Amino acid sequence: MGQAKHKMEQQWEIHETAIQILMDVGCIKECPYHPGNYIEKDDDLQPAYAKGNSMITSRKMDYNRRDLSDAIKDAFAETLEECPDCAKWNKDD
Ligand SMILES: [Zn+2]
Repeated sequence: MGQAKHKMEQQWEIHETAIQILMDVGCIKECPYHPGNYIEKDDDLQPAYAKGNSMITSRKMDYNRRDLSDAIKDAFAETLEECPDCAKWNKDD
């Protein structure tokens, strides 16, 4: 039980880290009206992978490189092209 919980927390943490990296390099941005909703900006993820790798190299974080690359890819895959809440507002009905 304790082990599984720890693993889940770590996965959540690496996911948050991946989102932060994607924001920093400009691959995604947060909706200015809906904090927590992320929107795709640039689908070239190489700068995000490079930044993650260099953060690991400089020991700013302690993740497996492969895990972090996967987390970056997953976080970007979950990001929508447009904020779903803004899309609702923009509907005419
Ligand atoms: Zn929005």
